Amino acid sequence: MTQTPKNIAIVGSGLVGSLLAIYLQRFGHRITVFDRRPDIRTIEFSGRSINLAMSDRGWRALREVEIEEQIKKIAIPLDKRAMHVLNEPEYFQKYGKEGEAIWSISRGVLNRKMIDLAEAAGVTFKFNEKVWDVDLPTATLYTGDSEKSEWKAYHHDIVFGCDGAFSRIRHKMQRRSRFNYSQDFLEVGYKELTIPANKDGSHKLDKHSFHIWPRGKFMFIAMPNLDGSFTCTLFLPFEGEVSFEKITTKKQANTFFSTYFPNVMQDIENLTEDFFKNPTSAMVTMKCYPWTYWNKVALVGDSAHAIVPFYGQGMNAGFEDIYSLSRIMKKHGDDWETIFQTYEKERKPNADAIAELSYRNFMEMSSKTADKSFLLQKKIEKWFAEKHPSLWEPTYSRVTFSHSAYAEALAIGDFQERIMQEVMKMPNIETQWNSKKVEERILQLLQSAPVPRV
Ligand SMILES: Cc1cc2nc3c(=O)[nH]c(=O)nc-3n(C[C@H](O)[C@H](O)[C@H](O)COP(=O)(O)OP(=O)(O)OC[C@H]3O[C@@H](n4cnc5c(N)ncnc54)[C@H](O)[C@@H]3O)c2cc1C
Repeated sequence: MTQTPKNIAIVGSGLVGSLLAIYLQRFGHRITVFDRRPDIRTIEFSGRSINLAMSDRGWRALREVEIEEQIKKIAIPLDKRAMHVLNEPEYFQKYGKEGEAIWSISRGVLNRKMIDLAEAAGVTFKFNEKVWDVDLPTATLYTGDSEKSEWKAYHHDIVFGCDGAFSRIRHKMQRRSRFNYSQDFLEVGYKELTIPANKDGSHKLDKHSFHIWPRGKFMFIAMPNLDGSFTCTLFLPFEGEVSFEKITTKKQANTFFSTYFPNVMQDIENLTEDFFKNPTSAMVTMKCYPWTYWNKVALVGDSAHAIVPFYGQGMNAGFEDIYSLSRIMKKHGDDWETIFQTYEKERKPNADAIAELSYRNFMEMSSKTADKSFLLQKKIEKWFAEKHPSLWEPTYSRVTFSHSAYAEALAIGDFQERIMQEVMKMPNIETQWNSKKVEERILQLLQSAPVPRV
């Protein structure tokens, strides 16, 4: 079904706002994107970029508007985890089947490219325009230099709020009756550091791996950049015995790294300088509902569902919102009220599911990846999945390399976990983990209950 062209505003030129602009422009609408920041393409960035992992859901959304190949040129495929357990040699864990990979991509480079592509498609961008308020029933935005300054009013037919986890548009919706909202901050914060390239521009660590140094309550990770460097993230509690609050001097930072991360320490050039220069940031899970207002306003991406980053799915989930929305738009034509209602009903359970999975993955990545029993369980699951691929798809693969609903991935993952809890109780499981007996037990447990579908 086609749509009558509308005057549409998008608040936020981040990853989600710029992709949504490309989609909506293709439907024939007139799109204006507002951002409080200056044009990211005009800002010098040092090449030290914060990167993200793009997986199949993100790629599918880009493929739909024929920009997947262009973006793949600026991304590096990672087909495995490289595990750096303290006092043990490095070992690798394949992510999925042959050919399956997540892709490391610089947030800044990706955002610049997407704005270029949106502009080339005819989208208008208004940078340095902070939205202070929105009148929901008339889809009117108010922008200005400050909250107290004189505001400009921009009237539109529809407004999309893609203005991130602390969205102004959502803030206005929150003031309405029966609007549900919650936010939960983790007690763990993060800080970004860089491992520079070798002198010849090559990478210091394997460049096709996602590197993890799990240390129980904290961990360090590294993802490669095209310029040979790695962007690293230290996840550490804000307070407590080993925490950010306990590292206040260069000496303490050095002691911390030499105790827990002796191997990485030598690779981070300006470790102590960067440690104190770079900010310590917080991570939040934000949930809300409804996501839309009549046929006038809708939230997409982090403004509707901010999640902690441990499944590498925040942007992917935002891109999938857009993909789903566009399918619904094709079905319902000019009936925007039905479009918005269908969109929020379809996406909300999935956003809640990926929020839960992401939270759990923090526990898994930081503490369990060094736990022997957990590793054995994963080994059994992998062995069984390879023998019976039609009966067992690991949750990580279902989330990362498939397009089945996040809510389904969560429900089936819980079902598989219950089965594995039984299997791990079997006598001598350490020695007979790949025996006929174990295989038969899993097959029997699989038959004892229907696989959940949502
Ligand atoms: C440490 C970390 C690692 C992550 N890793 C991954 C990963 O590996 N894979 C993945 O898929 N996701 C990852 N994410 C999540 C991902 O970064 C977000 O999901 C994604 O950036 C959301 O995009 P967005 O466009 O919705 O919001 P944002 O990127 O927050 O963009 C919002 C935009 O709105 C603008 N804006 C805000 N308020 C206003 C206003 N009042 N007026 C005008 N403009 C406004 C902002 O300037 C900004 O440009 C990670 C997140 C973090 C914190």
